[in-house]
Amino acid sequence: MVGLCCVLLGGVATPAHAASGVPPVTGPIVREFDPPDQPWLAGHRGIDLLAAAGSPVVAVLPGRVTFAGRIAGAGVVVVLHGDTRTTYEPVTSAVRVGDQVVGGQRLGVLEAGHHCASGPCLHLGWLRGQTYLDPSTLFTTGGLRLLPGGSAEVAERLAEQRGTQLGSGLAPGLLLRPVPGAIGSEFGMRFHPILHRWRMHAGVDLHADCGDAIRAAAAGVVIGRSFDSASGNRLSVDHGVVGGHRVVTIYMHASEYSVRVGERVRRGQVIGRVGDTGWATGCHLHLGVTLDGKAVDPAGFL
Ligand SMILES: [Zn+2]
Ligand SMILES: [Zn+2]
Repeated sequence: MVGLCCVLLGGVATPAHAASGVPPVTGPIVREFDPPDQPWLAGHRGIDLLAAAGSPVVAVLPGRVTFAGRIAGAGVVVVLHGDTRTTYEPVTSAVRVGDQVVGGQRLGVLEAGHHCASGPCLHLGWLRGQTYLDPSTLFTTGGLRLLPGGSAEVAERLAEQRGTQLGSGLAPGLLLRPVPGAIGSEFGMRFHPILHRWRMHAGVDLHADCGDAIRAAAAGVVIGRSFDSASGNRLSVDHGVVGGHRVVTIYMHASEYSVRVGERVRRGQVIGRVGDTGWATGCHLHLGVTLDGKAVDPAGFL
């Protein structure tokens, strides 16, 4: 009877108890929750977990299946838990609408899909009404330590694949767009609006208003913060070695930065405010990316 009591108590799980959820796949989180500031803006409305295509996907929490079908070519499963629901894609469903599931129960298998630049992954969403919540708070993955032997191979292949993608200058989603605006001035040779001569533009200019938040493009460590008459206030963040290449992002023209050299930053963390310091005809963010010290076009990584 004691067991029954606890099972029943478990059934009224509130978000406060949610960290006791089960990871939906065994792989690590390869892309974090990055909700947009406004519903119409781009962002990442869930988390991505690395897993091999065909591997089992399980329910994070107990609940009732309210959708199992295909949306825009991808299999999707939705499980309702009281006033929240979890979404799983791309998944070939093994459950039906109305099925009651327990945490850890198999919902189906992961489809190959193209959601992640890096290879097959599960996109897990968590919503209350129309509000997106951070699904990574539902469970602890234990990072790579929990990967079974087979998944370590997958992680290695992922790193290799990323290396190839990075080398070719194309790995969409690797970097988060530090401000939501479009690219105004592209990477490459351009006629400089202030110097009135042709110069190499070693980055992209993103439209932004004075004072807008600048967010770190990926997790990393601040390695440079300086001022010069061309860059204005300049910040460099080292993202470590990704797929065999050292990735550094450079931010220019900010009115100010709120992080110091040596400080660790999270992906999406506000690191400064858009300004027009240095050679700038107006407020915007210049974003540069270097791969092993060489400037590359950031557009392929956003
Ligand atoms: Zn995703
Ligand atoms: Zn620029």
